Amino acid sequence: NCSLSNEPVLPKNIILMIGDGMGLSQISAAMYTNDNFLFLEEAKHIGLVKTHSHSSIITDSAAGATAFSTGEKTYNGSINMSIDTVPLTPITNNLNKANIKTGIIATSSVTHATPACFYGNQVNRYGVGEDLATQFLQSNIHVLMGGGEDYFNNRSDNLNLTDSLKKKGYIMIDSIIDVVPPGTEKLINFCAPKEPKSKHDGRGDFLTLATKKAIDVLNTKNNNGFFLMIEGSQIDWGGHDMDSDYIISETLDFDKAIKEVLEFAKNDKNTLVLITADHETGGYGIIGGDMKKNTIKTSFLNDDHTATMVPLFAFGPMANHFIGIYDNTEVYKKILTLFNLSHK
Ligand code: MG
Ligand code: ZN
Repeated sequence: NCSLSNEPVLPKNIILMIGDGMGLSQISAAMYTNDNFLFLEEAKHIGLVKTHSHSSIITDSAAGATAFSTGEKTYNGSINMSIDTVPLTPITNNLNKANIKTGIIATSSVTHATPACFYGNQVNRYGVGEDLATQFLQSNIHVLMGGGEDYFNNRSDNLNLTDSLKKKGYIMIDSIIDVVPPGTEKLINFCAPKEPKSKHDGRGDFLTLATKKAIDVLNTKNNNGFFLMIEGSQIDWGGHDMDSDYIISETLDFDKAIKEVLEFAKNDKNTLVLITADHETGGYGIIGGDMKKNTIKTSFLNDDHTATMVPLFAFGPMANHFIGIYDNTEVYKKILTLFNLSHK
């Protein structure tokens, strides 16, 4: 038995799934109203993530995603800017330089805080959709799917960035159900002019279909691996609305995407899957229910984020690196280390 065969093997691909505002109660609520089952349960290596930002014990999604994307704690509202407003390099930039392909999927506008932190730099997250679209054009990200088409082609400066994207080699599909030409390596789908509908209001299977297509495209002609960020954006919006049904339908939608990702990872065997959140929203709690009827009774502390640690579920090669309690900035460092890249 050759000793080399026992050496741990680094993952080729890493898929980071962020349920915005998805704390343990959000996960539990989805599970207990779904016959006591989630696909998420298959990821057995579990850690807890400290979510506080530099400026506050309560993070916002911008500072939270900046921590994942740059390894730096910063002020709330920052899209990849340091506390001194110096631009920080998004992780996708480091990965593209190492010839690792990258992709972004969100059920919000692709210019919303979480996805924006995987390509942009803005001092303040608000009112900068068009600037972020311009910054995306300068990135080398292979796949982009979500809402926000207007920021690209219905702009105050009348520029048509979708034409520019096509010139850069992106294939653009009008609907997520459209066939992707074989051999496509760069793909974009905008599912809404601004913010996509909620699952309850008819978003359909966008997230699962986008996930499947993104993996197919990123895995095409790929020797060096890929990094894909998939956000269940609206779990957080259910929390802000203090609407338990909204939280549950969005979390179950996210769990369907998790099923798709875990199926790929199980077949591929070279893909590490990380499922976590940027923070909890709502101080949401389950205070009763009837498991036979798939119903729960819930309560909220407020309509904003809380500081409670969030879980991280890992599946695949090196998943054991994610057990324990650590800062959100460690997720960035671990991802780069596992891609065999250095970080400061
Ligand atoms: Mg978000
Ligand atoms: Zn929020």
